[in-house]
Amino acid sequence: MKDNTVLTPHFKLREFTESATAMKHGIDNRPTPEVVENLQRLCTHTLEPLREKLGLPIVITSGFRTKELNEIIVHAARKSQHLVGCAADFYVSGQTDNTDISGLSARKRLVKAFRLIIEDEDIDFDQLIIYPSFIHVSYVSQERNRHQITKANGNGTYCALSRAQAPALV
Ligand SMILES: [Zn+2]
Repeated sequence: MKDNTVLTPHFKLREFTESATAMKHGIDNRPTPEVVENLQRLCTHTLEPLREKLGLPIVITSGFRTKELNEIIVHAARKSQHLVGCAADFYVSGQTDNTDISGLSARKRLVKAFRLIIEDEDIDFDQLIIYPSFIHVSYVSQERNRHQITKANGNGTYCALSRAQAPALV
């Protein structure tokens, strides 16, 4: 599927719907119009302002998942926000013209993104989970966002962080 629909200046629909796993298993991962609206909201309020402030490309590793696709992904939550297009997993690419940040390690780039999501007033979110090599972030609506912050240790254990303390704890 080649969907060039532009969600926001830096994000195209296909970045959230193309999945190697879906392709491998012959799963049709096309989104409904409602899912596309949710993905657009996630980009508008979370990912696009993050991309702007970060100045580095954000690489989506998993966006929308149909129920069928979600079920075959190891460790995917059964009521995952990926099912409705409200969540995305990403890492931060190091490819940039800005030499000030091009030398940062992959983890440092990820932590920088994590802190920006929490601290920047132009970036909103519902749930934010930092894993060793990627971030899971979701957006629902301004009224319903819970601002939950979690650190995943990579061995199956998680720890909830307060919004005030989180930036210093990763
Ligand atoms: Zn996720």
